[in-house]
Amino acid sequence: MHWPDRILVREVGPRDGLQNEKKILPPEIKISMIRQLAAAGITAIEATSFVHPRAVPQLSDAEAVLEGIGGPGAGVSVSALVGNVRGVQRALAMLHTPLAEIVVVVSASEAHNRANVKRTVAESLAEVREICRLAAGQLKVRGAVATAFGCPYQGGIGAGEVARVVEGMLKEGIGEIVLADTAGMGNPRQVYDLLREIRERYPGVTWGLHLHDTRGRGLANAVAGLQAGVQVLESSVGGLGGCPFIPGAAGNIATGDLVSMLHDMGIETGIDLRRVLQCTQFMEETLGRRLPARVRL
Ligand code: ZN
Repeated sequence: MHWPDRILVREVGPRDGLQNEKKILPPEIKISMIRQLAAAGITAIEATSFVHPRAVPQLSDAEAVLEGIGGPGAGVSVSALVGNVRGVQRALAMLHTPLAEIVVVVSASEAHNRANVKRTVAESLAEVREICRLAAGQLKVRGAVATAFGCPYQGGIGAGEVARVVEGMLKEGIGEIVLADTAGMGNPRQVYDLLREIRERYPGVTWGLHLHDTRGRGLANAVAGLQAGVQVLESSVGGLGGCPFIPGAAGNIATGDLVSMLHDMGIETGIDLRRVLQCTQFMEETLGRRLPARVRL
C-alpha cells in the first residue's frame, strides 16, 4: 500500500456544520471558532456561505463573519460557498476580507439537485459558468460534486453522472474538485474505484473528498481515498454537520478523529490536534450538546 506523507485537511464546520444546527449562533461565536481553527494550524477553512438567508438563516451573517475574522494568519485559505450569481456578487464585495476562494456545488443526482436548489443539473452548470466568469481574476473557484456516491432520492449514482458535472466544472477552468458523499451512502471500495477512475480520466486536477459519517463509514472512506490518491479531505470540528435536504444525514467526519488517525498513520497535516479538541469542547459548550466526535481531550 502507498500512503502520502502529507494531506490537506479542510475544515468545513463553520459552513456545513453550522448550517444544520437548529440554534442560530451569533457572528462573534463563529469568528471565535474560525480563529481557534486557524490557530490550530488548519490552513483551509470554509467559513460561511452566500445563499439566500431564507434558505439558510444560520449563515445569513456571512459578511459580518468575514469582516470579523481579520487576518486569520499567513497561509490560511478562507473560502465560502456560493449558491448563485447573487452569491458571487456578495462574495466580490468581500475582497477586503481574507476571503480568497468560493465553492460552487452541483449534485450528480438530478433529484437531489432539484431538491437542493430547484434547478436541473444543466441549469446549475450554466450558473457555474456565469459564477466563474464573474469571479475570474478575483476569487479562486473550487467545485464540489454533491451526492457523488449515492442519493437518497435516486439511489445509486454512476461514474457517468459524476463525470458530467466534473466536465462542466473543468470546462470553466476550475482546478480543484471535491467529491462529496453528501448522504454518507458511499463505501470504501466505491470511493477507491470512483476516485481512481476519475483521476485517471482527468489528470492535473486537485481532488478532494467531503465525507459524512451517516452510516459510520466516514473514516474508512477517507482511508480508501488516501489509497486512491486524494489530496484534500474535508471534515468538521466535532463532527458537526449534515444536510437539511437529506433526511437523517449525519454530520461530517470529525476533524479531531481524522487528524488523530492521520497522525497515527504517519501522515502529516500541520494541525495541532489538542487545539482542535479544545475547539470541539468550545462548540459543545456553545451548542449545549455532545457532538459525535470520538477523540476528545
Ligand atoms: Zn456536507
